[in-house]
Amino acid sequence: MMKTKPLFIVLSAPSGCGKSTLIDMLLQEYSDIVYSISCTTRAPRGEEEDGLDYHFLSKERFEELLKEDAFIEYAKVHDNYYGTLKGPISEVLAEGNSMILDIDVQGAAKVRSYVRSLPNNDPMKLGYVDIFINPPSLEELRARLIGRGTDSMATIEKRMNNAEGEMARAGEYMFQVTNDELYVAYKRLCDLIDALSGRM
Ligand code: 5GP
Repeated sequence: MMKTKPLFIVLSAPSGCGKSTLIDMLLQEYSDIVYSISCTTRAPRGEEEDGLDYHFLSKERFEELLKEDAFIEYAKVHDNYYGTLKGPISEVLAEGNSMILDIDVQGAAKVRSYVRSLPNNDPMKLGYVDIFINPPSLEELRARLIGRGTDSMATIEKRMNNAEGEMARAGEYMFQVTNDELYVAYKRLCDLIDALSGRM
């Protein structure tokens, strides 16, 4: 395969914008893109597997890693820690592969400011790109959330409020892709990745 520039891709989208589907499609197509698995101190739910859905850590271990400054960003949500380790990102990029990080707007802002603080020749900075996925419109997003049939109306309203807040910050991202038609949005993502990684 042609040698390409390793990318550090940060992807954000409000819930219901098809982000997981788009990421799954990318991972199927690009064997050199690795999905970043977060660490958490919450207990596994249902079928969740350690090292696949999350790295499930004890609070003590997480706090130890915090002291070592091992996280590119972290957050405490309802008494549980969530965070992304720097180590695996550097390792993946050093191997010549790309890393994709799926994170909310607040987490992405922390990653962005960390990356800005790095020297210009750091692989994380050289390969950095952040992309925000927009829904076609707020009305369409509401219709999709209702159509999924998985959330209560109260949850949908919460997600809608959150989506508005996140969309207000979409301008912080280098690129925005609107997920109107899934395959059109996917093609735009692929074109972006191909251009930035020097695949074409
Ligand atoms: P859940 O417990 O439902 O899997 O996730 C709860 C929340 O934690 C979600 O909003 C999810 O986006 C967030 N989260 C998951 N991983 C990370 C991470 O690595 N960093 C940050 N800041 N938030 C995360």
